Amino acid sequence: MKVFTVVGARPQFIKAAVLSRALANADFPVQEILVHTGQHYDSNMSDVFFEELSIPKPMYSLGLGGGTHGQNTGRMIEQLEALMLKEKPDWVLVYGDTDSTLAGAIAAAKLHIPIAHVEAGLRSYNRAMPEEINRLLTDHVSTVLFAPTDVAKRNLLKEGIAEDKIHIVGDVMCDATEFYKSKAVKPVWFDELDVKAGEYVLCTIHRAENTDSETRLKAILEGIEASGEKIVLPLHPRTKNKIKMLGVELAGNIFIVEPVGYLEMNWLESNCKLIATDSGGVQKEAYFHNKHCVTLRDETEWVELVEQNVNTLVGASPDKISCALRSDRAVVFAEGLYGNGDAAGNIIKTLKGRA
Ligand code: UDP
Repeated sequence: MKVFTVVGARPQFIKAAVLSRALANADFPVQEILVHTGQHYDSNMSDVFFEELSIPKPMYSLGLGGGTHGQNTGRMIEQLEALMLKEKPDWVLVYGDTDSTLAGAIAAAKLHIPIAHVEAGLRSYNRAMPEEINRLLTDHVSTVLFAPTDVAKRNLLKEGIAEDKIHIVGDVMCDATEFYKSKAVKPVWFDELDVKAGEYVLCTIHRAENTDSETRLKAILEGIEASGEKIVLPLHPRTKNKIKMLGVELAGNIFIVEPVGYLEMNWLESNCKLIATDSGGVQKEAYFHNKHCVTLRDETEWVELVEQNVNTLVGASPDKISCALRSDRAVVFAEGLYGNGDAAGNIIKTLKGRA
């Protein structure tokens, strides 16, 4: 079986690390053609993951980052189509909800190549998010939809997608945490910060809805500052640029660091007291590490976390953010919301069964 995998952004490298390893160890012959679109290209947003997670070197690197959504998606479709025509894969495998996901799905759909979408069925029901458009369109042209949860499956059924295309397999990010948790690495700079393990809030901010709005970004920074908590903030390049452009001065309780690798991120997640984020993946990782998550958004795709009271949505309200970061919570974490760590095995069994 020949599988053509499209990746391009940080969360996709982590998901691909899990599935590429499982494909390489499959009990039937599989050839994986890994294609990196170049959507994320800084070394700490891309190379570090290939190195530390032993992801095979991409067979093709397209170097297509840095443009607008339309420019990136259009160029990716053109180049991915040419590669698909050359490689003639049995499956095109796409992950999540980025421009690379959509480009891979559109190129494959027009060539009538079966598409497998990992992390299908997630919905925020907010169409102002580029990710929501990417997910919706990708799901509707996919051949097999790998849903992480029952909720995701129900979302797809509501949109009229045929039930026999949908497989609930669990979440590959759960597999990733299970596999890499014990390999977590303390960042070399950690002891130089004025913070102690167990006493800081780990924060990430990168969603366009927060970084593209001056009001929202300033309000979030005001909220985390006002909490008075010690905040460790590995800063995404997009957010870093926006903060620089706005000329915002950050208070002394906010420790800005460069984006970290996944193994360091695991250490920061398991040693913090709380997580504040607008990331999709980090919300789930908070749960995997038994940490309460304060979500810096108005809605979330991961609704089961909110229902379980382990995730609090605070939007961009400084008061709500500051209050949520100061609250102590004794939380009970229900087990198995995202499967048992064998999503990759379930995906491979399904692909084999459909070969
Ligand atoms: N992550 C990382 N280093 C960082 C910030 C995040 O390795 O400095 C990882 C995080 O652990 C998670 C993934 O990146 O596995 C989430 O990616 P991101 O927040 O960029 O995207 P999203 O999940 O929101 O699509």
